[in-house]
Amino acid sequence: MSSVTPPASALPSSLYIATVEQAPIAISITNAKATILYVNAAFEQLTGYSRDDIIGQNESVLSNNATPPTVYQHLWQTIQNKQVWKGTLVNRTKQGGDYLAELTIAPVLNAQGAIDYFLGMHRDVTKEHALEVGVRQQHARLETVLQTAPVIVVLFNAAGQVLLNNLEYQRLCQDVRDGEPLALLRAALREQAGFDVIAQAFAGKSFKEVEIRLDMPGSGGSRWFACAGSIVNEADSSARGYFDQTHETAPHLLLLANEVTARRREIERAHLENLRARLAEQQLAQGLREALTAACYQIQGPLNLIQAATVMFASDTNDGQINAFADTLRQISAASETALTTLQSALPPEVVESGVLVNINQLLRHVLELETDRLLAAGVVVDWQPALVLPELSGHKNQLRSLFKYLIDNALLAFNESRRSQRELSLITRALDDAVMVMITDNGPGIALANRFKVFEPFYIGWKQRRGRAGMGLTLAQEIVNQHNGSIEIDPTTHDGCRMTVILTGVRDAH
Ligand code: FAD
Repeated sequence: MSSVTPPASALPSSLYIATVEQAPIAISITNAKATILYVNAAFEQLTGYSRDDIIGQNESVLSNNATPPTVYQHLWQTIQNKQVWKGTLVNRTKQGGDYLAELTIAPVLNAQGAIDYFLGMHRDVTKEHALEVGVRQQHARLETVLQTAPVIVVLFNAAGQVLLNNLEYQRLCQDVRDGEPLALLRAALREQAGFDVIAQAFAGKSFKEVEIRLDMPGSGGSRWFACAGSIVNEADSSARGYFDQTHETAPHLLLLANEVTARRREIERAHLENLRARLAEQQLAQGLREALTAACYQIQGPLNLIQAATVMFASDTNDGQINAFADTLRQISAASETALTTLQSALPPEVVESGVLVNINQLLRHVLELETDRLLAAGVVVDWQPALVLPELSGHKNQLRSLFKYLIDNALLAFNESRRSQRELSLITRALDDAVMVMITDNGPGIALANRFKVFEPFYIGWKQRRGRAGMGLTLAQEIVNQHNGSIEIDPTTHDGCRMTVILTGVRDAH
């Protein structure tokens, strides 16, 4: 049987010498004290020392004294324990140039197992080191830019796993209290655009300048962000992808969100001023309508009685006295009817609003801002807990505004009638399946369970201070809620004050 590879002992020793001599790595052989006995051509070339220069010298001639002594201590401990040492040293060439040597030292043992020689192999890794430092520096620079940029930056995969984020993003995490705001940003983007913007972006459609609003819990108010998203394709770093650089891994999405709250607040402020004026006008008209409707209703009752009596007495035609009385009744009835018609025609016309898409959080916050002075003057602590993202619903903005204003005004009246020194008003919004729920809770005297439904009846007045009240407010509030296909009720489980729960699904004529 013939062997292709001859046993090592069969190879001529000249082959070993030629192999080591021509090896493209600097090789040296030393005695047990690191005195150099042999160096190859690559060693001469790298260090600048010829064999004649260096044979008989210690390897320490290569040291440029920049390597810490602890490294040498570790080197010697390792090789004297008959183990291979691998490490990096700072060397100096004969010409005085520094280079980084990636060095491997292997002990060569004799037949008795004692160290006779050391085999040293080293290569210049100065360029690799420079490259590595360059990459590290670049990374540090990018990290500084990323962390100090006044923009939210988050990189995530299709499964929603965050791979990279910055300080602004982490701040948002704290502000939304729920920890991970990515899902909220995504929901707000979907809400704003009407479709899943992120899913589309993963499918290759990047987006920019999509403005979203997040309603922060507590006194955080609303915050606006201009968002942009684009796909980041990363090269495959696996061994398999070494030659095939066209093979890409699953894409990531880079989402940037630039806060534009200050600009939006300016616009909002102007809008609010306009609203304040409109709401005051509206309230005046509504108050008048309430009072006139109440007056008409009050007149209608006796008028019905007079008309019935007129019919009754009109049937007896023989008695002149009764006929005269019936005649008088007819005149009274006619005069009353004229008065009623006059009153009815004085009713300010109902403004017909068209339905628009309304964000209840925004609307409620506007009303709160409009009521701020009154709430502050009454010493009321407001706990505003909006749903972070609320679907828009079709509604009549002015009507909804007066609905919420009315309910908050009622809470203020309730506080005035209670002796409680700590006055708390809580406003909570929640998204339901196809509706929006608003809970307005005050810790005033509350409404007795027996009156839970009665308060919605026309002309019911439960306040101690009845002056200036028509008892029509909650009736009108219910009417507005009905128009929005919703419900309003007093929560029977709230005993410490009053909680009004309003559910709205929206009007049908929105466009
Ligand atoms: P040294 O006084 O030589 O040594 C510093 C410390 O090293 C000592 O305090 C001691 O802890 C330890 N030490 C040194 N010699 C011995 C020994 N014989 N026994 C036990 N401990 C000892 N150094 C380089 O800077 N560049 C190289 O490329 C390089 N190549 C080497 C290749 C081989 C094969 C070997 C065996 C050593 C090599 N060395 C190299 C190490 C070198 O021999 C020196 O130890 C080192 O350069 C430090 O020199 P120094 O004069 O500063 O201090």
